[in-house]
Amino acid sequence: MTAQANDFRYVSYAQEVIFGAGSISRFDEFMNRFQGKRFILCTSRSMRSKGQVAALEAALGEGLIAIYDRVQPHVQDVQVVEALELARESNVDAVIGMGGGSPIGMAKAIGFQLNLPMIAIPTTYAGSEMTAVYGVTHTDETPPRKVTVSDPKITPRLVMYDAELTLDLPPELTASTGINALAHCIEALYSKTRNPLSTAAAVEGVRHIHNALFDCFRDGKDMDARAEMFVGAHLAGFSLASVSMGLHHGLCHVLGGTAKIPHGVANSIVLPHAIRFNADATAPQLLPAAEAMGIPVKEDHPTAAIERMRQAIHELIGSMNLPQRLRDAGLSESDLPQLAQIAFQNRTVQNNPKPITEVSQIERILEAAW
Ligand code: NAD
Repeated sequence: MTAQANDFRYVSYAQEVIFGAGSISRFDEFMNRFQGKRFILCTSRSMRSKGQVAALEAALGEGLIAIYDRVQPHVQDVQVVEALELARESNVDAVIGMGGGSPIGMAKAIGFQLNLPMIAIPTTYAGSEMTAVYGVTHTDETPPRKVTVSDPKITPRLVMYDAELTLDLPPELTASTGINALAHCIEALYSKTRNPLSTAAAVEGVRHIHNALFDCFRDGKDMDARAEMFVGAHLAGFSLASVSMGLHHGLCHVLGGTAKIPHGVANSIVLPHAIRFNADATAPQLLPAAEAMGIPVKEDHPTAAIERMRQAIHELIGSMNLPQRLRDAGLSESDLPQLAQIAFQNRTVQNNPKPITEVSQIERILEAAW
């Protein structure tokens, strides 16, 4: 490791993180961490039909004053206004986000804007629970644009990983949000702002995700695999929170906010292309990930090992029946130039370790992914 890599700063947010199947039923034990006991829950419709809301209602009793249960993907600005109004009217003391990255993002927005503590109960592997960032889609712009807000106060005060809540996560969402977590680790490993802690978390994240993701996809009720996948997603979220992301992350935000492609699906399509684009500049940083996936790297040239890792990730994505081309996610070829333009101006894309100096570089990636 170079001297420069040992010279770093990172921000650690004071948080309590709980792992354990069934922890949600013990939620009341943690309630006295918060001043007052009036909670609002932000969640999505499927959380009601799958019984997770009922489990939280049982744990919180009368403390659950209000529920905003129609959070749509990518946090729409008009919904933030509605949920804010409900939180104000209900005079709540804390905000709970339960579900994927969208309800957690919504709860972060409400908590931040009302200066209230926020609790995250993730049920996918997207990793938002670990970061001090949320995104809101501005629907009054044409095309709509996702704008992120970043502040240390946004970080959830308490994160609860209860693997029982994920037993009903459908195979497609298991697979796509799991690839989202894998992508966080990959981009953290070659991030311009990586440090020894983010690298350690990212390598271990890859190891756990590689070990558990396919098992979760094959048998959603495999409790051991579900619990291990949460450890992988947490490590991925930790690395996401610690460093700046690059091309892959920025491009997926544009494909989500502007082209409305679900976040995990965008991740699954773009990840192999981002790895290939960056390989010549970042292969040495990615070698520990290849090793963690069981790919022999010792006698190889780094780029050859990374190409084998890219191929293995491509095959994993295919084996879980995820879309692998933008056309399969409903994008038409004529949309590509505009998306490339928007992505070229994206700050995260411009943070990519390999410089992106021309729109045509992004156009070529999008064409290859189409
Ligand atoms: P999501 O929150 O939009 O959820 C996708 C679908 O999964 C929804 O229909 C939801 O109802 C369903 N679902 C979730 N958990 C379920 C369960 N256990 N059982 C059945 N259905 C379930 O998608 P996501 O991929 O989790 O999150 C993506 C969003 O989060 C994007 O907007 C992304 O930008 C954001 N995100 C933000 C950060 C951050 O740091 N701010 C990090 C990662 C992702």
